Amino acid sequence: MPKAEEIVNVMEIEKALERTKSRPPGKIHEILNKALRMKGLSLEEVAYLLNADHPNFVDRMLETAAKIKEKIYGERMVFFAPLYVSSHCVNDCEYCGFHKRNNAPRKKLTQDEIRSQVKTLEKMGHKRLLVEFGEDPVNNDIDYIVDSIKTIYDTKIRKGEIRRVNVNVAATSVEDYKKLKEVGIGTYQLFQETYHRETYEKLHCGPKADYERQLFAHDRAFEAGIDDVGLGVLFGLYDYRFEVMALVSHAQYLDSTYGVGPHTFSVPRWQPSETVEWNKPLVNISDYELLKIIAILRMAVPYTGMIISTRESPDLRAKAFKVGISQTSAASRTSPGGYTKDSGLSQFDLSDHRSLDDVMLSILKQGLLPSFCTACYREERTGKAFMDLAKPGNIHHLCRPNALLTFKEYLEDYASPQVKKLGEKIISKYLENIDKEKVRVETEERLSRIEKGERDIYF
Ligand code: SF4
Ligand code: SF4
Repeated sequence: MPKAEEIVNVMEIEKALERTKSRPPGKIHEILNKALRMKGLSLEEVAYLLNADHPNFVDRMLETAAKIKEKIYGERMVFFAPLYVSSHCVNDCEYCGFHKRNNAPRKKLTQDEIRSQVKTLEKMGHKRLLVEFGEDPVNNDIDYIVDSIKTIYDTKIRKGEIRRVNVNVAATSVEDYKKLKEVGIGTYQLFQETYHRETYEKLHCGPKADYERQLFAHDRAFEAGIDDVGLGVLFGLYDYRFEVMALVSHAQYLDSTYGVGPHTFSVPRWQPSETVEWNKPLVNISDYELLKIIAILRMAVPYTGMIISTRESPDLRAKAFKVGISQTSAASRTSPGGYTKDSGLSQFDLSDHRSLDDVMLSILKQGLLPSFCTACYREERTGKAFMDLAKPGNIHHLCRPNALLTFKEYLEDYASPQVKKLGEKIISKYLENIDKEKVRVETEERLSRIEKGERDIYF
C-alpha cells in the first residue's frame, strides 16, 4: 500500500494554499484560459482559484466551467436513484443519522423487500441504482450485499429493469472487493468524508475511524480488479479549500498510479438528521461556495463525472447542472424501505422532494436532455477504455445518442403527457445536433424501433 502522503500531502497542500493567497496580476485569467483547453489543472493552479473569492472571479469560474461541461458532456444529465438496503451500522460517525449511538430501530431489507423496492423504482422509470449499506459485518456481511445486488439485477417487470448497480459500501478487503467485481457492480463509491486527518479522527468512532483504511480503500478495489471508482467529500466538516485540494490530489494519484482516474466525484453538503445533535454544519458552505467548488472540480479534473443528490434544493441543483454536474438522483428516499412506506430511520434530510417526472420537466425546461444510459458499463467501456474516450472529450459522441434512446424509452413507458410533449421536442433538437451523419441516421432508426416496442438499444 502507498503512504498517505502519496495521496494527500497535507504539508504541500497547506503551503500551496498559503503561497497562493496573493497572486500576480492576470493569474486567474491565465488559469481559466488553460482550463478551457480541458487538460486539467495543477494543484497550485487549483489553490489560486480556491483563494480567489471576489464575485467577479467566481462568476468567471462558473462561466468557464459551464463551457467545459458543455463541451465534454454536452446537454445530457444521467439519472439514478439511491437504494438504502440496511441501516444497521457499527460506526458512530458524528454527522450521520445511522450512527450507532442512535437507539432507533434498524431496518435490513429482506430479498423480497428489496424486490418490492426495486419494482417501485422501475415503475418510476429508473434504470440505475446506487445501493447503500451501513457497515455491519454481522448484519450486512459481504454475502448479504452480493445477494442483494443479484436480486436487484434479477428483478424485472414488463419494460422495467435495473441495468447498472453502483455501490456504496464500507471500506473492505481485496477478497470482498473481488466478490463485488464478480457480481457485476458499476462504480464503487467511497467518500473520504474529510481528508483532514485530525477532523476525521475526531468525528469517527468504530472501524471507520481508521483514516488510512478509508484512504487506501480504492487501491484495494483496484487490486481486486475494480477499475471504476468514485471519490467524494462531505462538505461542511472542514475548510472546503483543503478538501478540494485533497480530492484533486487523490484523483491525480489514482490517475498516475493506475492510469485510471475516478469515474465520479460526489459533492454532498452536510444536512441535518433528526438523530444527529448538530443543527448546523461544523463549517458553513454557502450555495455560492458550493457552486464554486463544483466549477473548480470541473476545471481541475474535466474527465470525471460529477454527482449531486437531492440533499440540495431544486434551485441550487439547477444551477449546479450548468456548471459541472453530469449525474443526479431524483425522487430519493434515504431509509431502507422508504420507496414503499414513508417511515423509519433515514440517514439525512432531503431538500428536493419532487417526483422523477417533475424533475424531468424542470430539466427539460432548462434545455437539458435526461438520460438513463448504462451503455459504457455494459459494453465494458470501463477503466482505461472509458478514460481513453473521456479524457480527450470524446465521450459525448456516445452520451448524446444513448441519452436520446434511453430518454425515448422513458417517454414511451413512464412520462406524464406534459413531459412527453416537451420531451419529444428536446429529442428532435438534439437528434439534429448529432454531427456524424451515420450516427444520426442510425439513432433515428433506433428511436423508431423503440416507438414500436423494442427496448434496451444502445451504442
Ligand atoms: Fe455508518 Fe456510514 Fe453513517 Fe458512518 S456514515 S454511521 S459508516 S452509515
Ligand atoms: Fe455514461 Fe457512457 Fe452512457 Fe455516456 S455513454 S452516459 S459515459 S454510460
